[in-house]
Amino acid sequence: MKKISCTLLVILFALGFASAQHFDQYFINKNLRVNYLHIGNFNNELLKIDHYTAGGTWNGTRQYLIEPNSYGDIMIEVFDSVSNKLIFSRSYSCLFTEYRTTEKGETEIASMEESINIPFPKNTVLLKFTSFDRKRNGAELLKQYFNPQTTPTVPLSKQYKTMNLHIGNKSDKAIDILFIPDGYAKSDAKLLKHDMKRFASYVMNCSPYKEMKNKVNVRAIKGYSEDSGITQPQNNIYKKTLVNTAYNALDLDRYLMCDGVWHLNDVADDAPYDAIVIICNSEKYGGGGIYNFYCTVYNHGEYPDYVIVHEMGHLIGGLGDEYYTSEVSVQDFYPAGVEPVEPNLTTLVDFESKWKNMLPEGTPIPTPVTGKNTPEYNRLGVYEGGGYVGKGVYRPAQHCTMHQIRYNDFCPVCKKTLEEVIDYYAR
Ligand SMILES: [Zn+2]
Repeated sequence: MKKISCTLLVILFALGFASAQHFDQYFINKNLRVNYLHIGNFNNELLKIDHYTAGGTWNGTRQYLIEPNSYGDIMIEVFDSVSNKLIFSRSYSCLFTEYRTTEKGETEIASMEESINIPFPKNTVLLKFTSFDRKRNGAELLKQYFNPQTTPTVPLSKQYKTMNLHIGNKSDKAIDILFIPDGYAKSDAKLLKHDMKRFASYVMNCSPYKEMKNKVNVRAIKGYSEDSGITQPQNNIYKKTLVNTAYNALDLDRYLMCDGVWHLNDVADDAPYDAIVIICNSEKYGGGGIYNFYCTVYNHGEYPDYVIVHEMGHLIGGLGDEYYTSEVSVQDFYPAGVEPVEPNLTTLVDFESKWKNMLPEGTPIPTPVTGKNTPEYNRLGVYEGGGYVGKGVYRPAQHCTMHQIRYNDFCPVCKKTLEEVIDYYAR
C-alpha cells in the first residue's frame, strides 16, 4: 500500500508540475473576460461576442486548467491556434438555458448577457463555445479567434473598496467567494457592513465550509445603490441598484436574478473571485443560483442562512434541487432515460457514476421513506422524488439543505461534492 501511495504522490507531483508549466507556456498572469450575448429560443440559439475586458491578475486555479466536471449547459474551450492543443476549458450554466425550456421560450426570442473569465493568452487562441441539452448532446455555438496583439480589449478600472470577511489562504490556494450587495443605498451603510459579516458567518458556520476554512476566502464589494430595495416588476416596484437584481425572473415570483451580467462582472473585478453571491436588500423571500454563473439571496426574514448555502450549492457544486413540489416552470428538465448531470440526482440510468459506491451494503433501491422519528431517517439511500418531479428521479437522503429549508444539513453526497469543488480551487 505504501509503495502505491508513494508512486501516486510522484505522479501527482509530476502532473501538478506539468500543469504549472502549462500555465506559463500559454498564459500571462492577467484576466481576460469574454462578454457576449446569448440569443434565441427553444429551437435556435446563437452567441455574439460583444467585447473583451482585460486587466488585473488571474485568480483561478493554475494547476487544473481543464475543467474536470462538465456539469454546465455551456462549455468554453480555448485552443492554442498553432498546435490546436486544448489549453483551457470551463463549464457553466446560464439563465438563457432555463428560459429556453419555459413556455415563453418555445416561441419568443430572448437576448441575455453572459461573461466568462479566462487567463490572458500569450498567443492567438481559438475560442470554442458548445451548448449541451439535457440529453448531453453538444451543439457548437461559436468559434472565434482572439489575438492578444490585435483584438481590442477594454481595460479594467478599480471602482470599489472591498471588505475581507474571511481569509483562509492565498487566492490561488482557495475558493474565492465574493459578495456583491445590491439595493443598499448610502443610508444603508451600517446595514451593508453588518449583513456582509452576517452572511459570511452563515457560509463559514456551515459544513463543509466550516471544516475547510483554510481553503475558503470570503470578501465583499463595498458598493452602494442609488435606491434602497430591490426591483419587483410584478408589484410595480422599480429600484435603481448597483447590479439591477430583480424578482420574477422567468415569471417566477421568488426567482431573483440579475439583468446585466457584464456590469456584474465589472463590479466584481475589484476583488479576486471564483464565485459571485449577490446579497439583496429586500424583505421579500427570494434567491436563485446557477452553476458557475452567480447566485442571489435576500437579506431579511427567517431563512437567509438556509437560502445562501442552498443557492451556493447550485452555484459552486452544480447540485440539483432534491425537492419535487414547487412552482418551477421549466419543462422536461430531467428527460426519461437520461442520467442527470447533477451529482446528487439520478434516474438510475447510470447510477454507478453517482453515489452507488457510498451506499451501505443491502440498501434497497429505491429506498423506502421512513419519516423523521425513525432510526433510518439519516440513512443514505436512493429515494424516489427529486429534481422537481415525484417519479423517475431519485435523491440520496430523506433530508438535505438541497431538499428542505434546513440550514447546515447537506446530505453526505452533497457534502462530498462541495468538498471536492473546494479542493479543486485550493490545489
Ligand atoms: Zn443532498
